[in-house]
Amino acid sequence: MTTTPCAWSVDWNECPNCARLKKHVDDAHAALLAASERVDQAYDEYRDVRDAGHVAFGTPSHRAWQARLDNLEQQVDEASAASRAAIDEWGKSIRLHHRFHMAYTRIDAAGHVGHVGTGETTSLPETEEMEEVPTPTPLIRADKLMGILDRAEAAYKVSIGFCDLWDLDASDLHARLATIQTIRTQFERLIDEAKENHHA
Ligand SMILES: [Zn+2]
Repeated sequence: MTTTPCAWSVDWNECPNCARLKKHVDDAHAALLAASERVDQAYDEYRDVRDAGHVAFGTPSHRAWQARLDNLEQQVDEASAASRAAIDEWGKSIRLHHRFHMAYTRIDAAGHVGHVGTGETTSLPETEEMEEVPTPTPLIRADKLMGILDRAEAAYKVSIGFCDLWDLDASDLHARLATIQTIRTQFERLIDEAKENHHA
């Protein structure tokens, strides 16, 4: 299973991905009804020709009817399995979405990085962070910068934790976390160099 492209910033009933899976449920249900109807019609037809004496047992005609009915029965079984699978997938998606949405809301409420793990590019709230600096300055404060990266790192770890809990593929999130950590290390080096130059 790939990482879900759910929009975790909104509730599951507003999520395009969950809506897409709900449509699969509706489509699969419609397909199941159509398959059931086809098999019912075929049985009615079979009874009519049999009662009219046109389908003697063991004749090629009888075997052809059995094959047709078996085939239609099998289509109902397959449609039924597809319908159950669609319901399972949708149910799993909305439960997972609910969990992630709650986590997202908590992270957001704590003033942490938004858009975590939505499958979109993570946007860091740089302008908001800068507004908190009392004196406007063209320089970015190192602790503010590191704070942004720390929160992004923490948010990814929360998302990965949920993926682990729900046994989902978190490799995409692990890759993003690794990127954040690499950037963090590089900034740390730059900050250390700047401090050394300042003291020199
Ligand atoms: Zn969703």
